[in-house]
Amino acid sequence: VSTSAASTIRQVKLERESELRIEVANDTPLKLRLVTGTAEIFGTELPPEIWLTFPPRLKFAVFTWYGATIELDGTTETDYTADETPMISYVNVHAVLEGRRNRAKASSSEGPRVIVVGPTDSGKSTLSRMLLSWAAKQGWKPTFVDLDIGQGSITIPGCIAATPIEMPIDPVEGIPLEIPLVYFYGHTTPSNNVDLYKVLVKELSQMLERQFAGNAESRAAGMVINTMGWIEGVGYELLLHAIDTFNANVVLVLGQEKLWSMLKDVLRNKQPNVDVVKLQRSGGVVSRNAKFRQKARSHRIREYFYGLANDLSPHSNIANFSDLSVYRIGGGPQAPRSALPIGAEPAADPTRLVHVNINRDLLHLVLAVSFAKEPEQIISSNVAGFIYVTDIDIQRKKITYLAPSAGELPSKFLIVGTLTWLET
Ligand code: ADP
Repeated sequence: VSTSAASTIRQVKLERESELRIEVANDTPLKLRLVTGTAEIFGTELPPEIWLTFPPRLKFAVFTWYGATIELDGTTETDYTADETPMISYVNVHAVLEGRRNRAKASSSEGPRVIVVGPTDSGKSTLSRMLLSWAAKQGWKPTFVDLDIGQGSITIPGCIAATPIEMPIDPVEGIPLEIPLVYFYGHTTPSNNVDLYKVLVKELSQMLERQFAGNAESRAAGMVINTMGWIEGVGYELLLHAIDTFNANVVLVLGQEKLWSMLKDVLRNKQPNVDVVKLQRSGGVVSRNAKFRQKARSHRIREYFYGLANDLSPHSNIANFSDLSVYRIGGGPQAPRSALPIGAEPAADPTRLVHVNINRDLLHLVLAVSFAKEPEQIISSNVAGFIYVTDIDIQRKKITYLAPSAGELPSKFLIVGTLTWLET
């Protein structure tokens, strides 16, 4: 028995084309480094010798193409090696996309527009990330579009967003939050307002289309679009809507034969130029229950204000009610058509802009700060960032909120949905 702290370091030897799957412990971080060989985490190569620190609860895999030795320092919830992975098929997809990018560059045309679909916990975000990182490693700047309002990787929940990926994605930090293009939906499930979701997807795609028109480099690199895990009923319709709206020409279907076959049949007639490819789900993908998802959402919001390692200092600001103008989009849940007299239209227009009086109902909600100059522009405008309402003083007509920094907000137009957060 040794009491020396150094004895917690363990070595793991990985054979070629195998991976070490890790779930970091719930309350302590894990340190890890590459000692020999080469290895990558979701498409991003590990630097040799350097200790990396992974935050609690993170789930990831260290994969090696040719063999590697890894050292771990700290405890894990689980860790095991697996030699059966779908990585070869994933990298083959990458190779095909590379070919299309090169052809697009040579003829200054459109590169591939890839959309990744599949049920929840099929590894969509992870595959998107690998494809982006592999492309970035080869010098492309593909655009990442995240349509997942529940567990997105670009910004806080309740949003759809896009950002160029200029470097392989950092395995710890994730995607840099510098200049994403973000549209605020305000809810974490699309069923709250399906029409609004569609409108925002359309706005985002049109904005990217405009950016692509003036940028041959982005155009050739193309897009990787991540989607929600909702694939039944309206969820399926939303997938078709996204494929159509973004003019996707490669659909990657993860882990679901039925979805693959349905999409293949529908698209064969409607958009015959679209390739629908079936891919295996990795056995390493971890299923996350509703509670875990809720926690992950909360952590994401915390990370926006405080940083991943508590390295940001948000500012508590106080404003007069009259300084701000809060809007909600849509008039609550829509009455189903079937509940109305024949011929009558549902009263609540899902994309109607509703002015909201500031009162204590806003407490603990996360609001978006719109780039709109006029209220009419709110729906079609992207957002600058978010604030969190911490106090409402009705008597003095003052609102206290947390913002990433001090000083005036970029606009007085705020959007409210149902996105709440309890600061812990
Ligand atoms: P989806 O986007 O389909 O919901 P994710 O890609 O987010 O699924 O994967 C679910 C979880 O599984 C994530 O926490 C991810 O980091 C983890 N994961 C994915 N692939 C692996 C793997 N090969 N080994 C270990 N964990 C993995």
